[in-house]
Amino acid sequence: MTNTPNTAVTTDPRNAPVTVIGLGLMGKALAAAFLEAGHPTTVWNRTAARADELVARGAVLAPSVADAVRASPLVVVCLTDAAAVRAALGPHRADLAGRALVNLTSGTSEEARELSTWTGDYLDGAIMAIPEVIGRPEAFLLFSGAPEVFAQHRDSLDRLGSATFFGEDPGLASLYDVALLGLMWGTLNAFLHGAALLGAAGVDATAFAPFANQWVGSVTQFIGAYAEQLDRGEYPADDVSLETHLATMKYLVRESAAAGIDTEWPARIQALTERAIEAGHAGAGYAGLIEVFRGKA
Ligand code: NAP
Repeated sequence: MTNTPNTAVTTDPRNAPVTVIGLGLMGKALAAAFLEAGHPTTVWNRTAARADELVARGAVLAPSVADAVRASPLVVVCLTDAAAVRAALGPHRADLAGRALVNLTSGTSEEARELSTWTGDYLDGAIMAIPEVIGRPEAFLLFSGAPEVFAQHRDSLDRLGSATFFGEDPGLASLYDVALLGLMWGTLNAFLHGAALLGAAGVDATAFAPFANQWVGSVTQFIGAYAEQLDRGEYPADDVSLETHLATMKYLVRESAAAGIDTEWPARIQALTERAIEAGHAGAGYAGLIEVFRGKA
């Protein structure tokens, strides 16, 4: 199914045409946000039927990847992984000349740097949001790569959420992405472990949740101070020493074992702390654990 460009959707003369390649859960949300903001939007997806809803809202379905790339100065790609990007766009690298390629596909920093060799006008991006918040300021998107591409297409990229640019290394957005996802998984694992522990005592997760939220809020306050310590390379125990943390961690392991729930998560935290202490950081504050993560303890 194809149709001709529908310029009637343009409500703002500053809106430049945009192409979105990949209409999975995220790609559809990206294309919908561009359409909503009035950008003439061309789309392509391997399974063409996934474009039906967007076409009904004014998007143009390109018959091929080459047509999709040629349709707009800004080409946004959001596929499963870098292998899918290579498969879909690799044969059409020549068509990218003179166009900005913004890759919002998750991947490693190495993959981002490799894809950046396809064109000088390459921006790698990471989406810190789920599809339903795309287009709202609480969706934040991280970019790195060609500064002139970010500057030139900033207004368009801002349609997707709040955009931040980290500089010329195309791998940086991917590194921030996995570092932030690690923060999410660590926090959620701790919540789930706590819910399992309290659940074994008959406490509902919904009863635990408000306290979990309040405590996460308190822990958030530690990050800024610890970051300054990490950058200084000094980890004074202004609040609690690692040795005291270790003593309390052992209670979490013991309580987990007594409740018959999995002990791997707290035991791993205890083991990391023991390594830091064995390396001489018993009197350090919690930030001293960085020595373990840096591979130095
Ligand atoms: P999805 O719903 O599974 O969509 C995957 C897309 O990739 C589909 O359009 C699929 O086409 C296409 N695709 C896969 N292999 C292909 C190939 N070899 N050639 C051409 N097209 C191919 O995934 P998603 O949730 O949209 O995620 C897309 C990317 O966004 C991922 O890298 C993901 O990590 C990232 N992301 C997603 C979210 C989220 O909340 N969903 C949040 C942040 C980042 P078909 O329709 O033909 O299968």
